[in-house]
Amino acid sequence: MKLLENKVAIVTGATRGIGKGIAELFADQGADVIFTYVSSDEKAKALEHDLLAKGVRARGYKFDVADYKMCETIVADIVKEFERIDIVVNNAGITRDTLLMRMSEEQWDEVMTTNLKSVFNMTKAVQSTMLKQRSGSIINMSSVVGVKGNAGQSNYAASKAGILGFTKSVALELGSRNIRSNAIAPGFIETEMTGALDEAMVQTWRDAIPLKRGGTADDVANLALFLASDMSAYITGQVINVDGGMLT
Ligand code: NAP
Repeated sequence: MKLLENKVAIVTGATRGIGKGIAELFADQGADVIFTYVSSDEKAKALEHDLLAKGVRARGYKFDVADYKMCETIVADIVKEFERIDIVVNNAGITRDTLLMRMSEEQWDEVMTTNLKSVFNMTKAVQSTMLKQRSGSIINMSSVVGVKGNAGQSNYAASKAGILGFTKSVALELGSRNIRSNAIAPGFIETEMTGALDEAMVQTWRDAIPLKRGGTADDVANLALFLASDMSAYITGQVINVDGGMLT
């Protein structure tokens, strides 16, 4: 028995890294998967092809998740075609790292709108459908940096900490309708986002992690699967770290 049979999932930012891992695992577990991206057309086409080959319905949508109206329009389209939305993984995110001293207003705004406002946009857009269904699982991708802070990432940390407050508030507002809202806080996950970093520096990070390695997209996807499935039916309002023990 597959864990997500007959469920419809939206995963934002799935052309690469963690989002891609989640989209693939969800499809393996029987979910119809709608995914979003903003620029990688070729990767999106390839992913849509791979997901369809797993025997589920799948569709990639290109739009900026920071755009409120677009989120509303696309979600309305999805509901028309797929008829329900059981799971939303708000995963799309960016970094614009620099010390506060050098941070521009644009760098602050870009990170806050892409990482935090997008979570509001998508959650608002799916809310009425989930309320009608009286069920739903909202999964928001935060970061250990949102829990702990990080020098050189004040914009990113603020966006990821904001996600935690939002996640818990939504859990309180929608719990009575059987809509769950949880956050994942990944530690150092080795994806394209982190692939550009200096290898020697990356090795010192790996050495400092209790499990002595960076995480993989699959490590995060496995938790997303648990939170998306009915196995976590009594879990809401939580922040769960996937960090190899980093914050212990
Ligand atoms: P990634 O490899 O850079 O992938 C980011 C994805 O988001 C891509 O699919 C990208 O689409 C999409 N995206 C970016 N801006 C978008 C926008 N405005 N509208 C729609 N889609 C957009 O990132 P990742 O490393 O997998 O990280 C995924 C999430 O986990 C992020 O929220 C990140 O903050 C969080 N996280 C990552 C780590 C880590 O170590 N990697 C740790 C903690 C938390 P295109 O391909 O079209 O650009």
